[in-house]
Amino acid sequence: MKQKLIYILLTGYLLFALLSFGLVHYYSASRMNQAMEKNEAEDLYAEAVSLATNYGYRFYSNTITKESLTDYLDVYASFLNADIWVVSSEGQVDAVVKSSHALTPRAMEGFDITTMFDSGYYEIGTFHSYFTEDYLSVYAPVTVNYKVMGYVMIHEPLKNIHEDSLEASDILCQTILGIIAVSSVTLLITGFFIIKPINRMCDVAKEYTNDNFKPQIHLKAPEELSFLADTMNYMSTKLDTHEDEQRKFISNISHDFRSPLTSIRGYIQAMLDGTIPPELYEKYLLIISNEADRLTKLTNNMLDLNRIGSRDAKLELTDLDINRVVLECAQSMEVQCKEKGISISLILCGDSLFVHADYLKIQQVIYNLMDNAVKFSRPDTTITLETSCKNEKAYVSIKDQGIGIPKDSLENIWTRFYKSDLSRGKDKKGTGLGLSIVKEIIQAHDETIHVTSTEGVGSEFVFSLQLAERELE
Ligand code: ADP
Repeated sequence: MKQKLIYILLTGYLLFALLSFGLVHYYSASRMNQAMEKNEAEDLYAEAVSLATNYGYRFYSNTITKESLTDYLDVYASFLNADIWVVSSEGQVDAVVKSSHALTPRAMEGFDITTMFDSGYYEIGTFHSYFTEDYLSVYAPVTVNYKVMGYVMIHEPLKNIHEDSLEASDILCQTILGIIAVSSVTLLITGFFIIKPINRMCDVAKEYTNDNFKPQIHLKAPEELSFLADTMNYMSTKLDTHEDEQRKFISNISHDFRSPLTSIRGYIQAMLDGTIPPELYEKYLLIISNEADRLTKLTNNMLDLNRIGSRDAKLELTDLDINRVVLECAQSMEVQCKEKGISISLILCGDSLFVHADYLKIQQVIYNLMDNAVKFSRPDTTITLETSCKNEKAYVSIKDQGIGIPKDSLENIWTRFYKSDLSRGKDKKGTGLGLSIVKEIIQAHDETIHVTSTEGVGSEFVFSLQLAERELE
């Protein structure tokens, strides 16, 4: 089972905190012990020096008796909670006061002060097995007339010193545990502010998987999460409109396929049941043929759109003479134009104008625009085809003196299946896909297309193309 993010965060943090705590506890305790031992050794040494120069000196210069010396040292021993030995330079133990129950020798065998203390003036351990537990032992020499007569040694049980460091370490650990507790609560609160928006996004994402793209995420969250939420909102809106478009697209196709099929079926049925007499067959077969043409055109247009719009559609870019393409198109439209008494005027830029584009696709663009121009032109008018170049771009303009496009339809003409009401009566064969194909092709070339139109006066479509290198040179 997957763990919740907050538990993972909290477990991770607690693991880190406990490990750090253990490390600090162990490390600080050992460092504190060492530091305290050293400090205590210095303090004890100072005491030993003071006892040596005072009572030790007086004892070895015979101004006080052994009993007086013991009395004086007794006070210090109980104050320091330690054992104090006065040892002569030959190893004879001259005085002992103690707070411990350790046995004290009368004389120290093989006495050599230079090897007795490991760390110079102090030693930690059982002091050459004179004690049964660990002690901190220090010594200071007693000098009379520049001669070392003996030594004052102070032995303090190590556990006394460690008790102090343990207390300090306990305080440190309690402080750290307090910090861990407070920071865990802080982590929980912060985690809540991060996890709440994530949970909300998960809920909404679940809705998306059920094809419900309506829910939007509105939340106050840190920058990164807000960005994620905005992106999800944008994505869902797009998917939602895409779904809508898909529905509209299918209903449009069905409608556009159904009407020619209905009339084809109707006329055939009428011929079969004799409603249409044989002498009128030719007229109705012509209508059926036209309707079949329309279905073919619709299918071809849709295939074109699909091909151009697909992500991996590739343009076959070559250097082509756009003047020639325009001329060829004008020639192919000659018959249609003649039928309507339309004349074509060509204004071409130079003898040739080379552009870098996909030949077949640009031919289709010009053909679609010309086809519309002829369809929507009034009889006995002129269609002007013009090529020009400016700022490294070639421009192609197709201008008619036709019915024009109503202002409120201008921005819709690029939409799939759109036909303005004005055109519906005049153009029964139109599929409403011609300009969508034009726009897709021009966009695939990274170029632009614009239209200017006035109802009852005419329309002009202008699109741009990249000039070929040879023209730029
Ligand atoms: P169709 O195949 O129906 O012509 P298009 O996508 O080519 O579809 O055009 C969409 C609509 O734009 C047309 O139905 C018409 O209303 C309008 N239109 C396009 N070109 C012209 C034009 N030259 N003059 C007037 N209206 C036009």
